[in-house]
Amino acid sequence: MKSFELHDAGTVQEAVALLNKFGPSAKIVAGGSDLVTGVMKDWVHGKGMPIPEKLIDVTAIPEMIGITIAANGGATIGAATTLTSITESKDLDQKWAVLTQSAASVASPLIRNFGTLGGNINQRPRCWFLRGEHFDCYKKGGDFCFAVTGDNRYHAIIGGELCYIVHPSDVATSLLALNASANIAGPSGTRAVAFDSYFTGPREDVLRENVLKHDELMVNVTIPALAPNTKTAWSKLKDRQVYDFALVSVAVVVTQENGAWRDGRIVLGGVAPVPYRAKVIEQALVGKNIKDTIKAAASTLKTVARPMSLNAYKVDLAINLIERTVLNAL
Ligand SMILES: Cc1cc2nc3c(=O)[nH]c(=O)nc-3n(C[C@H](O)[C@H](O)[C@H](O)COP(=O)(O)OP(=O)(O)OC[C@H]3O[C@@H](n4cnc5c(N)ncnc54)[C@H](O)[C@@H]3O)c2cc1C
Ligand code: SF4
Repeated sequence: MKSFELHDAGTVQEAVALLNKFGPSAKIVAGGSDLVTGVMKDWVHGKGMPIPEKLIDVTAIPEMIGITIAANGGATIGAATTLTSITESKDLDQKWAVLTQSAASVASPLIRNFGTLGGNINQRPRCWFLRGEHFDCYKKGGDFCFAVTGDNRYHAIIGGELCYIVHPSDVATSLLALNASANIAGPSGTRAVAFDSYFTGPREDVLRENVLKHDELMVNVTIPALAPNTKTAWSKLKDRQVYDFALVSVAVVVTQENGAWRDGRIVLGGVAPVPYRAKVIEQALVGKNIKDTIKAAASTLKTVARPMSLNAYKVDLAINLIERTVLNAL
């Protein structure tokens, strides 16, 4: 592994000042399970993806750690909070079980003990060409996508263009379903960005996956209170039953009236470069009896799916998993 400098930040302001001082050669590090033991150890780099020279550790910043339930019924979770703290929170589990279930489905207990919320949401994609040293693809600043002609069995079936990664974060999928927001700190202060607009696909900028600038960091995530009688459910399909990334995951948040879909979100992970909100299915359900309609509604995913040469099977998996997860939520 290439050597690097490690800087401990004691406050958010200190972390921002260090990012600002060092420029794009510096990166935030939390648990390091993706950045240090993945990207840097495996020398994943190219002209659009330089290996960081300075890491700024945010795991000792008090305001970035912990879970607070607000008087209005919402929650704030520090970005440096470990995934285990999230899975073990009774408050979160009682009100937002879809979040605790998605966090519990990440990796292994060991990784969840030191992997953080911010690290999970901002981790880099897992495309095997990206992670392989001999493939100088678009995402590293090269001029080709090897997934187009190569083995694309795990790649995007929706929204791929130029680059066909799938967003790897399980927790991001449930947070989008919960209509959560990220609070971001930078040199000019803080800003809140709803997860609806936090993630960026390759069409916007193939070199990045979210709106964070090089001198910004995620401080915490806020989740609004759910309307009374809202139901949620989480499902994740993977190749191996031990820890693995999602082939397809589904987060459902739904409020119903006399069995009919009133409001809600269906969000898919593992299928698109960003966590994908399946509005086409939500719209097919609005005002209709959910049990009677869900099979036909889930099938409308076919109208937006553009599978690649080896991954059409993921369309069928997604349709079936959506149906099952919506029914589980009820
Ligand atoms: C074997 C293995 C299996 C895995 N399986 C899964 C899985 O099933 N599902 C899943 O979702 N993930 C999985 N992961 C990924 C893992 O969840 C993440 O690596 C972990 O949660 C990242 O947290 P971390 O704190 O270690 O991140 P780090 O490695 O420290 O950081 C990851 C990225 O996020 C950035 N970052 C971290 N914190 C912040 C912040 N506060 N603000 C801005 N940027 C920040 C870093 O700069 C870096 O680019 C797996 C990883 C491994 C190694
Ligand atoms: S899918 Fe994206 S990350 Fe993978 S080879 Fe193509 S451009 Fe690179």
